[in-house]
Amino acid sequence: GGQPSQAPASAVARPPAKPAVFIPVNRSPEVQEERLKLPILAEEQVIMEAVAGHPVVIVCGETGSGKTTQVPQFLYEAGYSSDNSIIGITEPRRVAAVAMSQRVAKEMNLSQRVVSYQIRYEGNVTEETRIKFMTDGVLLKEIQKDFLLLRYKVVLIDEAHERSVYTDILIGLLSRIVSLRAKRHLPLKLVIMSATLRVEDFTQNQRLFAQPPPVIKVESRQFPVTVHFNKRTPLEDYSGECFRKVCKIHRMLPPGGILVFLTGQAEVHALCRRLRRAFPHARRRPPEKEDQEDSVEETRKFKKSRTRARKAQAATLPQISLDSYSVLPAGEGDEDREAEMDEEEEGLGSDLDLDLGDGEADAGAQLDASLPLHVLPLYSLLAPEKQAQVFQPPPEGTRLCVVATNVAETSLTIPGIKYVVDCGKVKRRHYDRVTGVSSFRVSWVSQASADQRAGRAGRTEPGHCYRLYSSAVFGDFEQFPPPEITRRPVEDLILQMKSLNIEKVVNFPFPTPPSVEALIAAEELLVALGALQAPPKTERVKELQRSRLSCPITALGRTMAAFPVAPRYAKMLALSRQHGCLPYAITVVAAMTVRELFEELDRPAASDDELARLKGKRARVAQMKRVWAGQGASLQLGDIMVLLGAVGACEYSGCSPQFCEANGLRDKAMLEIRRLRGQLTTAVNTVCPEAGLFVDPKMQPPSESQVTCLRQIVVAGLGDHLARRVQSEDLSDDKWKNAYKTPLLDEPVFIHPSSVLFRELPEFVVYQEIVETTKMYMKGVSAVEVQWIPALLPSYCQFDKPLEEPPPAYCPERGRVLCHRASVFYRVGWPLPAVQV
Ligand code: ADP
Ligand code: MG
Repeated sequence: GGQPSQAPASAVARPPAKPAVFIPVNRSPEVQEERLKLPILAEEQVIMEAVAGHPVVIVCGETGSGKTTQVPQFLYEAGYSSDNSIIGITEPRRVAAVAMSQRVAKEMNLSQRVVSYQIRYEGNVTEETRIKFMTDGVLLKEIQKDFLLLRYKVVLIDEAHERSVYTDILIGLLSRIVSLRAKRHLPLKLVIMSATLRVEDFTQNQRLFAQPPPVIKVESRQFPVTVHFNKRTPLEDYSGECFRKVCKIHRMLPPGGILVFLTGQAEVHALCRRLRRAFPHARRRPPEKEDQEDSVEETRKFKKSRTRARKAQAATLPQISLDSYSVLPAGEGDEDREAEMDEEEEGLGSDLDLDLGDGEADAGAQLDASLPLHVLPLYSLLAPEKQAQVFQPPPEGTRLCVVATNVAETSLTIPGIKYVVDCGKVKRRHYDRVTGVSSFRVSWVSQASADQRAGRAGRTEPGHCYRLYSSAVFGDFEQFPPPEITRRPVEDLILQMKSLNIEKVVNFPFPTPPSVEALIAAEELLVALGALQAPPKTERVKELQRSRLSCPITALGRTMAAFPVAPRYAKMLALSRQHGCLPYAITVVAAMTVRELFEELDRPAASDDELARLKGKRARVAQMKRVWAGQGASLQLGDIMVLLGAVGACEYSGCSPQFCEANGLRDKAMLEIRRLRGQLTTAVNTVCPEAGLFVDPKMQPPSESQVTCLRQIVVAGLGDHLARRVQSEDLSDDKWKNAYKTPLLDEPVFIHPSSVLFRELPEFVVYQEIVETTKMYMKGVSAVEVQWIPALLPSYCQFDKPLEEPPPAYCPERGRVLCHRASVFYRVGWPLPAVQV
């Protein structure tokens, strides 16, 4: 390096309207040369003039044109980080925040103390930081602490085209912050960056920006990409098809990198394994197998210490009180609530081993493998050093092949890609309107996304895109993906907004507003959880709706907003300081958030051997579940106890892959739970330092009374997921045998056969989710004592006299609810047995 920066011509002729400061940057000649090739450099002056002259500016440019790496540098050079202020850039994905801060620091020859990143619970921001990359969730949390964002002179919202909920909310909030700052003569600039030209939701929205902001379009030097559609109708086995396509390209086509789009981490790994096996790479060594550990022994140790702990704590009373959340001070939490942009990582990843069954695995071996294939995975949660590998040139004499999830679509530009293989699918979180429960589903991408993917092939020279679906199917794709905010429940967002004292959420300038029904559903749930004050009673429908949508937040709500989990789980955490339940509640919440702890064992077997192995494993897992569930109170906690027992035993084994393998647990899920437990512990300590929790993966098993408390905590959080077994006199026909009824579904629902309560059939249960296969099945089931319902879920009950006060808590001696009313009705009108004093 060493050479003073050679500012581009446009930088010299700055108009006086800009800040007078010009901060020199000492870039290396190589970087300078690379930069000058980027199309955005030609627009520097236009962009900077627009920023100087307008409070809000939109920059549109094809992926790879240099928006993320260059615009922050323009602003830095123009002095937007002077007077100790910071240039902030938000990314919807953690991986982009980290990678881009590293890249920009390198280009500018500055340390990561100056160009830094902050993602949930992790970052390298210092006093010297001038350019700060962060996830959108981090900025949202900062707004909660300092609404005017006074540390910033400019905020860039990157990847706005993705329309992640947090991006949308931030743009809405920033539109207000920008005008408040202007009134104080401390102008804040907002730059919105998008990879597509579809920005009408930002420009044509009078409520958002009264003056439509200028849109600067960056012409990109995109090389032509030839798109090849499959002739056949799309295949179910798109991973296998990807494998065959990569083999063909590698064998038959001239040099140039290959980029494969798949939907999830498990698929990415499976395809990488398969390709590496087909085109061996000399330097790769298989990991050594460790000795098999005895998981029964681990569980025995766990149970033994459980017995000890139970004896020690036998004196504790097994009741929780709904009032005790007040011991937690209202949330001033430091931690951020990260946007869930890593969806693809949380998928119901039954690690589909593609090598099973189709006999294709050997096909590669017969190919001309003279040129090795340098196969690299890429997905959001990949360790940063591994991610960085995709930016390195592949070893001499090899061809680069990156197998990626959606992250490679717009967030990261991989150099040297000439061939794109697009499976046409994306894993998205799907929300069921009836049950409100989410699941990950693989669905077709939009036309816009497919075109973005194809574009990755034409960055450095003309390229080819192989779409594993027919052009007719493409014609049926939706044109653009709908904004995330219209696709999902919004209770977590509403809670965040209320904690920012935005009471009337209907008036909020959403770029695309969620439906009124979604807003009402969110407020109702939050009122029921006690996070919002109940609206005053009124008969008039219109008034009712208005008051419903402007409920103020409660102290409990503020505490809940400080936890980086969905409101139902946040409620559980807020209640669980009682009786030392916090470590268990944290574990339960972490485990419920990660979902699908257990391997998919119902998958079809490829061979008789495989079938026998799966059968054996199913039996073993069922047995382990019974062991983990235990007896008495702990069995009543049901599948939640299984989660706790599995995590506990697994941690006693040091989370070893052998233990997981032997017990049908997904080791990735177990590691994710460990990580989340650490994060939630930090969050609880921040909200409530007196709790003084420390992160100890090996927890003592809960005592009997703690288990009872946990049951109540779970009921308090999942109250809207209550189901009652259909009584014998209601059994008009056979389809209701052993069935349960929920408030929202007319259909019978059943306890899933994998549940430890499958044969127990408690009268009342709460469930984590309903999945529909041959029938509607409840998963994550826990039994409920009927007398808890009025005390723990008063807002779901009708009392025969209006309630002046919340129902009294338990009678400690008898473990029953003290309720002076003769009878209580669950809201949907189920009579409950009279509960007497
Ligand atoms: P945009 O945000 O418009 O999509 P970027 O600013 O991310 O564009 O990328 C601009 C250029 O910088 C691209 O050509 C990309 O290949 C290159 N680039 C980005 N990150 C790295 C990196 N870590 N290593 C090498 N090149 C990179
Ligand atoms: Mg970018």
